[in-house]
Amino acid sequence: MFENLTDRLEGVFRRLRGHGTLTEDNIQEAMREVRMALLEADVHFKVARDFVAGVTEKAIGREVAKSLSPGQQVIKIVHEELVALLGGNTEQLRLDGRQPVTIMMAGLQGSGKTTTSGKLAAMLKNKGRRPYLVPADIYRPAAIEQLQVLGDKLGVPVHPSTTDTRPVDICRQAMVAAAEKNYDTVIIDTAGRLHIDESLMSELKDIQEAVQLSEILFVADAMTGQDAVTVAEKFNHDLAITGVVLTKMEGDARGGAALSIKSVTGKPIKFVGMGEGLDALEVFHPDRTASRILGMGDVLTLIEKAEAVVDKKEADKLAKKLQKSEFSLEDFLDQIQQIKKMGSLEQILDMVPGINKLRQLKDAPRPNEKELFKTEAIIRSMTIAERRNYKIINTSRRERIARGSGTALADVNRVLKSYSEMLKMMKKMRGKPGALTGMKRRK
Ligand code: GDP
Repeated sequence: MFENLTDRLEGVFRRLRGHGTLTEDNIQEAMREVRMALLEADVHFKVARDFVAGVTEKAIGREVAKSLSPGQQVIKIVHEELVALLGGNTEQLRLDGRQPVTIMMAGLQGSGKTTTSGKLAAMLKNKGRRPYLVPADIYRPAAIEQLQVLGDKLGVPVHPSTTDTRPVDICRQAMVAAAEKNYDTVIIDTAGRLHIDESLMSELKDIQEAVQLSEILFVADAMTGQDAVTVAEKFNHDLAITGVVLTKMEGDARGGAALSIKSVTGKPIKFVGMGEGLDALEVFHPDRTASRILGMGDVLTLIEKAEAVVDKKEADKLAKKLQKSEFSLEDFLDQIQQIKKMGSLEQILDMVPGINKLRQLKDAPRPNEKELFKTEAIIRSMTIAERRNYKIINTSRRERIARGSGTALADVNRVLKSYSEMLKMMKKMRGKPGALTGMKRRK
């Protein structure tokens, strides 16, 4: 999902990162491109306009140009604004309060209401709830049967609705049945129409008045883009919906509906449908979605984690040591500790932008967590004197270290060999100012 938008935005930010420092003009130019990318993704024009204005103001106000990496800072702001646009915090289903909790699914025909009712029942059942499916579409001949089949598949009870009962009466009867049988979550699958239709709206309003609803979830096909947003507005106006489910998200390369619907209706996206299977319903997370849109894995968490772990003063000290080739095995151990604080190597890699493309390569390197732990154990088995001067580590010391760390002599030899090679490299580089820190010499 979001592939087109991601491709476009990646291009904008690549160019932005190309500038060492950023001027106001650079930012304005990038934001014009972001706006175009959003419009092409079928984002509502007002939403795109406000979004870009918000980012520009923050980017210029926050003096990104003075920060370590101005390009990254702008991306960070875009990310924050995207999260807000997508709804901010993850919104949970309202399951507390009066039981049974009653959820009405509403939306146009073909949007995915029946399928989503089944998916939701499955999700809630997995969480230990006792859902009850209620077909309230008496017009489409096969609708009741469709839900019945889903219920059977999932092992979820389905209310025995009949086409000669009014939907509002079906719902009333279903509530009585649910209370009798102790079901704690009633999911009402309502009728849809091809277009917005007043008689449908009044039918839904009747149900709303007759039954105490905890949630009215508006279901829309994400692929319909701005149409989904317009229909959502109408449903929200008439019924005061409590949330949105966007279906067929897995096939939506543009993402216009997802990006506009919260901002236009004020109602959060609570779930997304990611396929036809009954397990293809996901809770919607604005932050993760924003990261995905930016094609960045989750680089923000990575930046934040690194910022939280790496002490600026310590980093400077280390850079100096590196320049003087004074990088001891103790420093090496410190570095391993810092990496470990950020999570497992796989977790760290997962947050790296473009990692999926890299992983697809045949001989892509795999992180080796075990090696890292082994190296750590080996250094920990050394005395302080050994850590500060590896040259004193003779064969008997090596054997002692191997025993102490539960590794083989060959492992100890390997760690010491790579460490001494690293030192040699550092010495070679010493002659080249800035080679180690990546900084250019000032002219
Ligand atoms: P309703 O008329 O609103 O009840 O819509 P249905 O539940 O019958 O769904 C219409 C079609 O969309 C069916 O073929 C579903 O399998 C399909 N569908 C629903 N949700 C998703 C989804 O998240 N992804 C995909 N690919 N198809 C979906």
